[in-house]
Amino acid sequence: MIIVLKENIAQNELKDIISRLELDNRDYFVNEAYSTIAIKDEAFQENTLPDQLKGYSGVNQVILTSSPFCLAGKSDGQTTSVVDIEGIKVGGSSFTVIAGPCGIESRKQILESAEAVREAGAHIFRASAYKPRGNPYDFQGLGLEGLKLLKEVREKTGLLVESEIMGVEKVELAAKYIDIFRVGARNMCNYDLLKKMARTNKPIIIKRGLSATIKDFILAGEYVMNEGNDRVILCERGISSFEPETRFTLDLSAVPIVKSKSHLPIIVDPSHAPGKRNLVPQLSKAALAVGSDDLIVEVHSDAKTALSDCAQQLSPEEFMELMGDLKHIAPVFGKKVW
Ligand code: PEP
Ligand code: MN
Repeated sequence: MIIVLKENIAQNELKDIISRLELDNRDYFVNEAYSTIAIKDEAFQENTLPDQLKGYSGVNQVILTSSPFCLAGKSDGQTTSVVDIEGIKVGGSSFTVIAGPCGIESRKQILESAEAVREAGAHIFRASAYKPRGNPYDFQGLGLEGLKLLKEVREKTGLLVESEIMGVEKVELAAKYIDIFRVGARNMCNYDLLKKMARTNKPIIIKRGLSATIKDFILAGEYVMNEGNDRVILCERGISSFEPETRFTLDLSAVPIVKSKSHLPIIVDPSHAPGKRNLVPQLSKAALAVGSDDLIVEVHSDAKTALSDCAQQLSPEEFMELMGDLKHIAPVFGKKVW
């Protein structure tokens, strides 16, 4: 059940509602950002609590829902939430493209890549300071040095910067250098990490786990919202399947399905599923067509020398061409690339 509170609810009105919930020993969560109280108990039909609550002066509406997504769920007619990051919007009618290399490798690589994606029209720069690698002897990222380089990118180009953070103990440090956290696919179910990031109040991109169901994917967003942070962006990046032609199978059907169940914006990563750069432009356009709110694409200033995900990163020229195509076709799908 969701209680939608009246705008400008008085403290004593809120207290009255909470006292009523406590009388029943209800497990509730007050979300001040949304002016809602979510109650995590579905046994309402046999009692009169919902009707009683409707009579409280601070209550606007009482929504009965059997959805497990108390905060991330979508009520009838609700549109996708817009996550506003210093004026850059994810969700809504603008198609904001996030682009940059897989990992941060050097100052030269990062500044050249950032300049290239900015020129092509991206507004947010992606690059990982910490790399989750299957092999412990592969490039693991530059760590703190990488975070510092991201801050420099931000200062030099004006692009917002995002990065994957893997360790709970790195969250506070990273918050000083980046605008947006990314939770990698391998960490989607790391609930301590989600909660710690949520408490920074920074926007968080959550990538779908390699074998996560859509329900678990949205529930990862619920974890962040349950800490009082509503700036959550879900990201479909491909799931494990039996098909060896691609690294993962990009589940484009997840986009409209998530949109039917959740108000959270969902974006698509067209790079990690195919693992091959020639497929990235087609998958990007397909993502736009299927209703993705945004894209996060890997672009490297000199992809053949990349220390991770070498085969899938676009060159600056390829990215420029893709952005041109997206600008051209976006209006057909009610979007504008800007
Ligand atoms: C990445 O974005 O560089 C990455 C490692 O992605 P994923 O977590 O989706 O594998
Ligand atoms: Mn990568």
